[in-house]
Amino acid sequence: MSDEAVGRLAALRTALDLRARDCGRKPEEITLVAVSKTHSADEVWPTIRDGGQTVFGENRAQEAMTKWPDLRARAAALGKTIELHLIGPLQSNKAREAVETFDVIETVDREKIAAALAEAMEKTGRRPRLLVEINTGAEPQKAGVLPQDADAFLRLTRETYGLAVEGLMCIPPAGELASPHFALLGEIARRNGLLSLSMGMSADWPLAIPLGATHVRVGSAIFGARG
Ligand SMILES: *Cc1c(COP(=O)(O)O)cnc(C)c1O
Repeated sequence: MSDEAVGRLAALRTALDLRARDCGRKPEEITLVAVSKTHSADEVWPTIRDGGQTVFGENRAQEAMTKWPDLRARAAALGKTIELHLIGPLQSNKAREAVETFDVIETVDREKIAAALAEAMEKTGRRPRLLVEINTGAEPQKAGVLPQDADAFLRLTRETYGLAVEGLMCIPPAGELASPHFALLGEIARRNGLLSLSMGMSADWPLAIPLGATHVRVGSAIFGARG
């Protein structure tokens, strides 16, 4: 199973490079975030040891805290540094754990979280990189800042909480063409001077490359279907 993940990872990297070149982009501008949620450390390890993958995404802080300290240590023993992204919702009472566990938090989406992260960063001295999640489809059940509130929220994170947000993330509505959502995310980033765009998953990453994705978050295309 794990050998399969290593093979799928290699094939995905080749496809990503090809797609980037076809879109007139440099492959090295695009970071593959391998989404390892629900997969055990033993399933993930071969992609680090044999696949050379070092950037991973988890959607639950709790799961990441049980899985990654050991994986990080094993990677470090091979001279590899892991970069772990939080790509799922964050509760403000878990801000400290998140700041201590993750290198990048992609899901900043409300004032309470911004405040809690600022406080946790102050207390721990750790400064994970931050992205703001935008609810591009304005779906009521979905996390993220509404597009029309994005500029004001970004100003608030900078001016009130002193957070250096570096980019934006989105999850387009299921069953809709993703491209307009990716384009909207790019527009919001451009007018706010943000450089990172986390967009594109297993089913739609090829659409995100021509629209400026700097990070694609791919899980099942590497690790297989989740149980
Ligand atoms: C699970 C998840 C992914 C990866 O989805 P796949 O379809 O398995 O590639 C990407 N982003 C977020 C926010 C996720 O929760």
